[in-house]
Amino acid sequence: MFYKSESGIWRAAPLDAFQWLEHGFGGRHANPPAHPLATLDQIHSAVVVCADARTGRIGPGDALVAGQPGVRIGVRTADCLPILLADPERRAIAAVHAGWRGTLLGVAVRAAEAMNRLYGSRPGSLHAAIGPGINACCFEVGPEVAAQFRNLLPERNDLDRKTRVDLAEANRRLLAAAGLSLKHIHGGAPCTCCGVEEFHSWRREGTSAGRMLSVVGIRA
Ligand SMILES: [Zn+2]
Repeated sequence: MFYKSESGIWRAAPLDAFQWLEHGFGGRHANPPAHPLATLDQIHSAVVVCADARTGRIGPGDALVAGQPGVRIGVRTADCLPILLADPERRAIAAVHAGWRGTLLGVAVRAAEAMNRLYGSRPGSLHAAIGPGINACCFEVGPEVAAQFRNLLPERNDLDRKTRVDLAEANRRLLAAAGLSLKHIHGGAPCTCCGVEEFHSWRREGTSAGRMLSVVGIRA
């Protein structure tokens, strides 16, 4: 479902069907076109900011929404999940930065709600692409973090100890509970932490890790 384009940018194949939409997930060696672009000072929150008619760093927060042609919005990640939302009915978009804190705060769902409020997007028409981030193979957390996933992953009986958590699955369930169709939630992106050649990884590289830019835009 995810593939690397010739330019080295990762893409979610189902989003390619929308001619009005442009999107891409950056890797270690390439980022999508980003001029002009609106981004945020990311703070691991569930704060959503509307980017219409604004570019540059437009505030603190972790999700951007937009509905104007010509707008591009982006998030920077290295292990956290970049989640891009697109509504083909109303031609509205969102770019979300979801680490474990943002996931627990429901930042992706807050973005979908803002799209509904601002642009009339129905959850049932939204597509979500959960891009390259740390997968369950590498995302080991201590009991103090694991325990916070009990509500989202109720079938797990090992969340009282050091264990691995699947952030993409947690986001998939949150988005489905918010009304997105499971067939519109596109996952299976590669793991940034295992993907030494392809991605930056905060967990693997520490504070020196670079960041990758993921961008979604509405063609002018
Ligand atoms: Zn991994």
